[in-house]
Formats: sequence, C-alpha cells, structure tokens
Amino acid sequence: MIKGFRGTSVVDYPGKIASVVFLGGCNWRCPYCYNVDLVLPERLKNLPDLPEEGILFDLLRRKGFIKGVVITGGEPTIWGRRLKAFLERIKYETELAVKLDTNGSNPELVASLLAEGLVDYLAMDFKTAPSRYSELSADFDPVEKTLELLRDLNGCAEVRITLAPGLVAKQDLEEMLPYLKKVKRVALQKFVPEAETLAPDFPRPSLPPDIVSSLADYLRKHLSAEILIRC
Ligand code: SF4
Repeated sequence: MIKGFRGTSVVDYPGKIASVVFLGGCNWRCPYCYNVDLVLPERLKNLPDLPEEGILFDLLRRKGFIKGVVITGGEPTIWGRRLKAFLERIKYETELAVKLDTNGSNPELVASLLAEGLVDYLAMDFKTAPSRYSELSADFDPVEKTLELLRDLNGCAEVRITLAPGLVAKQDLEEMLPYLKKVKRVALQKFVPEAETLAPDFPRPSLPPDIVSSLADYLRKHLSAEILIRC
C-alpha cells in the first residue's frame, strides 16, 4: 500500500510543516496525471512496499518538527479499511494532524474518516466541468457528494483545480462554479509541461500566465473563497 515517503514538506499541508506518505494505485486514469509510477500497475510493481512500522517510526522521530502528515497517492481511498486502520495508527500513535488528498470518488469512506476524526484537512481535485468527467472515464456523482462533505468543513478543506490544457477553460469553470459555492479555499495548480504524463500525447503547453491570472480573477469575482495560484 505505501509506496513512498517524504520526510519534510512545507508546501503540501497548508500552514503546517508535514511529512508526506504516498499510497500506490488509482481507480482513475487522468491523461495529464504525473504520478505515472504510482498509478500504472506495471510501473507500481517496481516500487517496493514500505512497512507501516517504519513510516510510523519516522513520523515519531520527526515529531516536534513536523506538525502534520499528508496522505496522498495515487488515490488513497482505494485502500478502504486498510487506509482507515493506518490513519487510526497515525492519529493514536503520533497525534499528528492528517491531511487527505482525494479525487473524490469515495465519499462514503471520506465521510466515515471525517466522522471518526481521522482526517483534519481534506483536499479534493476538481478536474473539469461536471459534464466532462466522462472524458476521464470517471463518474461525477461521487465527486459531487465529496464536495458536499468538503463544504461543511469550515476552512479545513480545499478544492484543487489543475489547469490541464484542454480540460480547464473559462467555460469549464463556469460549469464548476455552483459546486464551489461555500468552499473556503480553491487552489489553481499549474500544469507542468516537462513532467511525464499518463497519456504520452497529452498536449504540452501549459496555460500562459495571463490566462491563469484571468481564470483566478474570474473565480474571485464569483466566489467568496480564497483563490490561490500554485506552481
Ligand atoms: S491525477 Fe489523481 S485521480 Fe487522476 S490518475 Fe492521477 S492519481 Fe489518479
């Protein structure tokens, strides 16, 4: 399940220095995805499994310096009960704050993790206009439910929108707007053209800075959320 560990990050958990734990596997295949090694089974099998005990030891060793743990992927929620059991160990053995990154495909699990106090900060990727999720071979219904959970979190949550060429333009944001009402923080993430992507022919040019700024301004005009631009 655990395929990677970064001991210290200052950018992955808003307001906290954190460690990052990467879980392997994903139920989706977004063409612009950079996490090729963590998503494709034929690549994933080359990454060794890292033992939970070792990760918990590392977290405890860093405690005092780090204040949180980011659980990311791949898509962490595909691990269901195993994810829950791992988060229980993190919470009770280290008492660190936990941020969960998700594509929004498993609202039932996310709801139960939140209800049990196992997640302190939720980040969900909103990939394109709802009517275009079928282009990613993904279903928007569970994403909508996860967005509902996220809206109730009162600041301990964010929606991330990767500015993937051809998937996020103003008309897509227009369709996404109603789902972003009451969200407290929206982060626009720049697409990195140099990275390897799941679809090797995914269009490379990232959006020019003036277009990125105009999309951010558009969101600021229509939402009360904090709108961030991340590299
Ligand atoms: S971008 Fe996220 S949801 Fe999409 S394939 Fe990659 S890891 Fe999975």
